[in-house]
Amino acid sequence: MRQLCETDVLVVGGGPAGIGAALGAARRGARTLLLEKHAFFGGTASFCLGMPINQMRPGGKARSDVHELVIDKLQAYGERAVMFGEHELWCQVEYLKVAVIDALDEVGCRYLVRAHAVDTLVEDGRVVGAVIATKRGLMTVRAQVVIDCSGDGDIAYFAGAEMLVDPDEAAPMTLCLNITNVDIEEANRISRAEMDAMAERARAEYPLIPAGWGLTRFPSSTCLTINHGGTKGFGVLDPTDPEALSEAECQSRRQVVQMVEAMRAYGPEPLRDAELIAAGPQIGIRPWRRVKGLYQLSEEDAKTGRAFDDAIAWRSGFLDIGFVRYERMLVHDVPYRCLVPESLDGLLMAGRAMSATYVGASAGKSMGNCLATGHAAGLAATLCLQQGRQPRELDVGQIQDALRADGVDLTRSGDDQEWLT
Ligand SMILES: Cc1cc2nc3c(=O)[nH]c(=O)nc-3n(C[C@H](O)[C@H](O)[C@H](O)COP(=O)(O)OP(=O)(O)OC[C@H]3O[C@@H](n4cnc5c(N)ncnc54)[C@H](O)[C@@H]3O)c2cc1C
Repeated sequence: MRQLCETDVLVVGGGPAGIGAALGAARRGARTLLLEKHAFFGGTASFCLGMPINQMRPGGKARSDVHELVIDKLQAYGERAVMFGEHELWCQVEYLKVAVIDALDEVGCRYLVRAHAVDTLVEDGRVVGAVIATKRGLMTVRAQVVIDCSGDGDIAYFAGAEMLVDPDEAAPMTLCLNITNVDIEEANRISRAEMDAMAERARAEYPLIPAGWGLTRFPSSTCLTINHGGTKGFGVLDPTDPEALSEAECQSRRQVVQMVEAMRAYGPEPLRDAELIAAGPQIGIRPWRRVKGLYQLSEEDAKTGRAFDDAIAWRSGFLDIGFVRYERMLVHDVPYRCLVPESLDGLLMAGRAMSATYVGASAGKSMGNCLATGHAAGLAATLCLQQGRQPRELDVGQIQDALRADGVDLTRSGDDQEWLT
């Protein structure tokens, strides 16, 4: 198989975690390549067409130089690109996609889009690269360290790592949509209860419409984004099973059309003339397949605001299993052990794929937190290069020093998050 290139750090997946990993490593001078299977970066932020990017500046405070770099690049495009909340950013996703490219260019990170990692190169128990599918067929990319930010832990899975899946506890997948031709001020006053009551009335005619609708104002003054209960009513669908995923994607396209038709026929007055602008390029996937690491972050860790000696990030926000459970938690640490696979060398994971129980993965899954774990993985990878060590051999104190130098405050665990509304 033809080799495309060699790099120091290979980051697979250009969502929030992959962006954090790539920026974190490249800012330290590591030759870094970010691979993304879609034609754009942003991951779920881009798939969901404008939902809030939560926990980017909790309590209005900067959380790292890497978070701030992404924010700076967005702000350069003005208020059409981004608005700020108590902890979150509201982004117009087309600007977000470009802002990420701007940030990657600034730090000299190489990137490839339309490059789908379809297999992992493993030698003597060590991950040494990936096989990517391109228009010229399969090609290899070799790397000193690989960071799996694919969301579903594809790289670890292809390498034969033990994975964590709870098939009975599927968080719904959701295909988000944008609508226009609505009075935005009036539409923003519609409660979730009103939308649920509308769905009850409309379901006989539109059987696929979800229970649970969240109307969101941005990304423009004339457009609403809708996040919703998605596949919750379709039974358990495994997003890593080709047939189940295909069913989820196709039924969700029908669901989106039924939602708009239901709003027009049964909706509150401001939604009666709603028109569909777009549905996401793919369905949004909540935590499912994770990589088993040296520690699994749990619901209890999240709710008790647990601190760890080997903290490399913290997570804030809510315990949120989309439209299933929504509960308070405390700010809690993420131990480095959640980023290190149990048995493989040469590999780190971050974001949705990191090691956690099902509920632990759903707690603090906000994008600002995923970016933080990616940032830490990127810094850990650069230490591996400098010291010729494997991720499991690193002195975590040195990762913590590198994080502090990048503006990360590792003393936030236990905070009860007064900024949350
Ligand atoms: C419907 C929905 C609503 C949500 N709402 C919010 C919200 O309002 N606010 C918030 O902060 N968080 C929200 N979340 C959670 C948040 O979006 C995720 O937890 C977060 O995006 C996970 O980041 P990640 O980088 O780990 O994975 P992802 O965002 O899933 O990104 C993974 C990236 O890797 C790419 N990829 C996957 N496999 C491969 C491969 N084999 N080769 C190459 N590329 C690959 C994907 O295309 C994608 O770009 C929501 C999630 C969903 C699904």
